[in-house]
Parts: sequence; C-alpha cells; structure tokens
Amino acid sequence: MNFDKYPMAEPYKIKMVEPLKITTQKYREQAIKEAGYNTFLLRSEDVYIDLLTDSGTNAMSEDQWAGIMLGDEAYAGSKNYYHLEDAMYECFGYKYLIPAHQGRGAEQLVSKTLIKPGQYVPGNMYFTTTREHQELAGGIFVDVICDEAHDPYNENPFKGNVDLNKFEKVIKEKGAKNIAYITIGVTVNLAGGQPVSMENLRQVSKMAHENGIKVVLDATRAMENAYFIKVRENGYADKSIKQILREMCSYTDAATCSGKKDFHTNIGGFAACNDEQDAITMRSLVVVYEGLQTYGGMAGRDMEAMARGMLEACQDHIMAHRIAQSQYLWDKLDAAGIPIIRPCGGHGVFVDAKAFYPTVPQEQYVAQSLAADLYVHSGVRSMERGIVSAGRDKVTGEEHKPKLETIRLTIPRRVYTQSHFDIVADSIIELYSERNKARGLRMVYEPKALRFFQARFEKIL
Ligand SMILES: *Cc1c(COP(=O)(O)O)cnc(C)c1O
Repeated sequence: MNFDKYPMAEPYKIKMVEPLKITTQKYREQAIKEAGYNTFLLRSEDVYIDLLTDSGTNAMSEDQWAGIMLGDEAYAGSKNYYHLEDAMYECFGYKYLIPAHQGRGAEQLVSKTLIKPGQYVPGNMYFTTTREHQELAGGIFVDVICDEAHDPYNENPFKGNVDLNKFEKVIKEKGAKNIAYITIGVTVNLAGGQPVSMENLRQVSKMAHENGIKVVLDATRAMENAYFIKVRENGYADKSIKQILREMCSYTDAATCSGKKDFHTNIGGFAACNDEQDAITMRSLVVVYEGLQTYGGMAGRDMEAMARGMLEACQDHIMAHRIAQSQYLWDKLDAAGIPIIRPCGGHGVFVDAKAFYPTVPQEQYVAQSLAADLYVHSGVRSMERGIVSAGRDKVTGEEHKPKLETIRLTIPRRVYTQSHFDIVADSIIELYSERNKARGLRMVYEPKALRFFQARFEKIL
C-alpha cells in the first residue's frame, strides 16, 4: 500500500470527542441577528462546524496533553521555558527567545523595539494585529507584496512573494534610514494563505541587508510555508520541513510568532531574534507587558504543549495531511464552479465574495453578508476578510477598500473529518445557487480598533 496516495487519511485516531449541537435554520436566523450579523459575536455552542479561524482551535496530541501534566509553574526559570527554547532553536534557529502570551504580544515587543516614530515598515500585505502594533509604535506600513497576490485568480504558486521593485522603490524614496525593518509573513494570511518562495526570501534578505535594513519574519504559519516550498519549489523535494524552515529563518534577523496556529496549541506565542541588544530591549519590555522573560504570559504547561506541538508541526506527514484537508475542500468547491482564491493556500479556503454575490456592493459589506448567510444555511461559521477587516485609514478616516473581499473557511488542525468538509462544500454550493436572494448589510456599531471583531450590522431589506 502506498500511503503517500492518501494524504487525506488521518495520521491519528480519535481518543476523546466533543458533541456538536444541530440547530434549525429558524434558530440560526435568530442567533445571527442577535450577533449583529457578525460571526465573531455568535456563541460557539450555536455553531455546527467552526471554520472561523485556525487560531487556538487545534486538537492537541496525547504527547502534548502529557506535557500539560509536566507543567513547572515556577514563577521564574520554569523547566518548560528551557524546553521551549530548545524546541524553538531546533525548528527556527534564532539565538534568543522572548515568550509572549500570543502573537500580538510578540508584535508589540518587536514593534516597540525596532520602530522609531515616523519610520516606514514595508511588508508583504498587512496583517491586522501586526499593522496595528506597527502603527501604535509610530510606524507607517507600506505594502510591497507582488501584484498577483491581489488577483484571486492568478495561479502563481508563490503569491505571497515580495515585489522586489516595490521594495527597492520604498528604499529609494524614503531612504534606508527611515525604514524600521521589512516584515515577511509566511504564509500570507490575508492573501489566502499563499506562500513565499525560498528564492524570494533570499533576494529580499540580500536587498534589505545591503541597505542595513532588518528582516522580521511573521513565522506564525512558517511550517505550512516550508511544506509549500517542499512541494512547489525546485530543489526542495528531498529536504525535510525542518531543514527548509531553518534555511528560511537564516535569511531573517528576528521573528514574531503566534503559537496558536502551526504549533497545534490553544494559546501561546513568542518573539525571537539574533541581535543581543534587541533581545535585551525586548526582555525589558516583556516584563512590563507580558510577564517574566521565562514565561511571557504563558503557564508552564502551555509552554510545554507549545514546545511539543512545534516539533510535531515539523513532521512532514503531519503537514502533508494538514494541507490535504484544505486541498480536499478547495477541490470540491472548484469542481462546482465556486469562485475561490487560487491556488489552494495553507490554512483554509477563501471564497471570493464579490464574485459570489455580484449584486451586493463592497460598501454594503458583501463578505460579511455572505459569512452570515452561510451560518444561517448550515451552522458553518466562517469569517470576513474584506472591507470590515481592513478598517479605516488612521489619517483620513476613510475606509480602506481592499481589492479582495473574501470569506475565510479556516481549517483547525486535526479537528474535523472528511464528512464535515462535505457538508461545508455542499452548503456553499447550495447557497451559490440561491445568490439572487443576497442582501447587503449596514454597520450600526463600529469599534475604533480592529473593528471586525466587535462591529454590529443590520440587514438591508
Ligand atoms: C494570528 C496571527 C497573528 C497574531 O497572533 P495572535 O496569536 O492571534 O495574537 C499574527 N500574524 C499572523 C499571520 C496571524 O495569522
């Protein structure tokens, strides 16, 4: 038997189950109305298949759970911190580890350490919390991702790549001294989980370092990116994910990482770097904002689970299964002619809401509306990635109008089975056949920061 032919077959069996509630359409209509048509405001109990996010929603392994029992809850110098340091070094190779309660905690440390107010921070497409912390530290974000990333139907296998001409232009126009660093997200969440090639990382690193600019990796889904390099880029097929990951990191100076994604955990994160002075500055900040430098807001047991989950994510067959689940859902939707972002990305499938609901304008929050309708149709929870997530320009107050208006069907690691994905696909296909019934939304409550989490809407009838 050649098991490579069945990447979708689970490389694990189920030891504990969590019952799901099946609700009626009428019940869900009421639930979404009460939630202000924002899937973030639904009660998880009312959700059948939860594809809101892959963040912290993962199933841990028995080895991770065993690690939970070995939590050393000492205030200082927990042994789990040292395990985490070793695991981080083994996977990523950075010299210094600064733990944080989750990714945004690490982003605050790095932004405050490396950005002087008024400096520019180029990046391959923004990520919500990353940009927020850069701006709070006085930085000005500049998008330098390749144009293909903004075209949902472009088939480029590495749509997360930085456009070197755009990066060079920023350096020339603003001056290298006025650039804090460049952030490289691997994979690029908002572009549809699209990876960055090793070749691109190498070139960006060369250009940045020739100009004395640091490269900061958003390593949140770096193992997924490494897997895509393995299967899509020439010369990497025979390398392990760990070898590829170490090479990726070798082109960078520091990283921020959410432990809630690739590491199969429910909470955690870290910053890491190679520069001693940067580490000292971050350690002086971590005690103010997160906790002592040997726990950074995590319990000892959580550090242990993260160390173990990180090493699991470097196993090639675990990552092959992970991506096979996304690919399975992607293939089903593609076969039915549903407009989805191409090619298949890492952590989920992104439906092009503008093409799905052509009659609803962007100003009426088309993706937000589609996410609400999908929930009502089948109890499947997705999230908006479009105008609501993009927020407003800090200076003009105008709404950012991203080219892409999507709903994200994000796949938690090791949680759902093939039959769940069949239901998700069939529900979307049915909804598409009723698209002439689509209606837009009106925003009735808008929070100041990261509005997509708490904004409320009403249906325009
Ligand atoms: C989730 C995420 C973050 C933020 O991490 P949290 O753990 O949610 O604070 C940063 N960057 C990317 C790409 C992410 O997906």
